[in-house]
Amino acid sequence: MADESGSARDRVQKVFAWIAEKWKGPRQCPICAQERWSVQELMSRLPTVSQESGINLARGYPQILVICENCGYTLSFNAIVMQIEPADKKPDQQETGERPAKESARG
Ligand SMILES: [Zn+2]
Repeated sequence: MADESGSARDRVQKVFAWIAEKWKGPRQCPICAQERWSVQELMSRLPTVSQESGINLARGYPQILVICENCGYTLSFNAIVMQIEPADKKPDQQETGERPAKESARG
């Protein structure tokens, strides 16, 4: 499983690079005003909801969560827009991970 863990770390590094490029304003948490953010190695997914199929956990939008280390306030970014995950990747091909990365996104 060393490859998955290495790949998860690569993804976290890509996320921090993406944030550094895109986040133009102050990087303070809107709740507690601190600037310590961590990136979850484990990808999240917003389920789709429709009248026909109800809540569908198998299909949805891959998300990268960026979490305030002080209060837990969470930013959610679409991993496809971030080009972290390809648009045609199936949910069962997702990597799994356990630990949040302990790096700061301080600017
Ligand atoms: Zn906070």
